[in-house]
Amino acid sequence: MRQTAVHAVEPPRIVTSRGVVEAEAVIVCPGDDLVSLYPEHLADTGLVRCKLQMMRLAPPGFALPAPVMSDLGLVRYGGYADLPRAAALRARLEAEQGEALANGVHLIAVQDADGALVVGDSHHDADTPDPFASEAVERLILDEWRAATGRAAPAVLDRWIGTYARGATGSLIAAPHPRVRLAVVTAGNGASTAFAFAEEAVADLFEETSPS
Ligand SMILES: Cc1cc2nc3c(=O)[nH]c(=O)nc-3n(C[C@H](O)[C@H](O)[C@H](O)COP(=O)(O)OP(=O)(O)OC[C@H]3O[C@@H](n4cnc5c(N)ncnc54)[C@H](O)[C@@H]3O)c2cc1C
Repeated sequence: MRQTAVHAVEPPRIVTSRGVVEAEAVIVCPGDDLVSLYPEHLADTGLVRCKLQMMRLAPPGFALPAPVMSDLGLVRYGGYADLPRAAALRARLEAEQGEALANGVHLIAVQDADGALVVGDSHHDADTPDPFASEAVERLILDEWRAATGRAAPAVLDRWIGTYARGATGSLIAAPHPRVRLAVVTAGNGASTAFAFAEEAVADLFEETSPS
């Protein structure tokens, strides 16, 4: 049901702004709404809301052979950042690009079929993020594009902000009730991992609730 708020999940009742829906089992995926449902379970998880800035740039006049990332990403993503050798890279980046690190900036650039680029991004934690796309932060992202590609950044066509839930672990599947799972991807990769993550949440829910 679109345009509907869920006020409470009490299997088999789900209380919504359009009445009660019945369900034997429920998976709650609140995204970065950490206060409406099960706030007591989310309070101790260390999850925070994270604001990101991204841009759409005009076609650069050449085809990217693949998505482009830069070394700022190697100290941001745990899979790389936790490697012992990343420490030397971090020390150098702190000396040379401290402002980018302080603003959670790294580069991911992908190209659309029409040649335009989707380029991001920055990361700022805040319970209630402001709605502004900072020009200074945008400049850091565009500087990184220039450093990584050796080419001037094309014109900015669109700019936007977004938010997601961020936490120390990559994801959270909690069981606030035997027939409920609370599921949140907390590493900013929920679009890529959604199907596998959904499989894990469903398996976790029904393994516990199926009759033995
Ligand atoms: C700028 C940005 C860039 C990103 N880039 C990538 C990327 O490159 N690759 C990648 O894999 N992922 C990326 N992500 C992360 C990805 O978008 C998220 O992980 C994913 O959207 C999470 O999906 P979700 O359905 O769990 O949560 P959401 O998309 O946040 O949806 C949750 C929905 O639940 C609704 N809701 C919450 N509580 C209630 C309630 N009580 N009643 C009714 N409705 C409620 C919310 O309104 C919202 O519509 C990015 C995110 C952002 C913001």
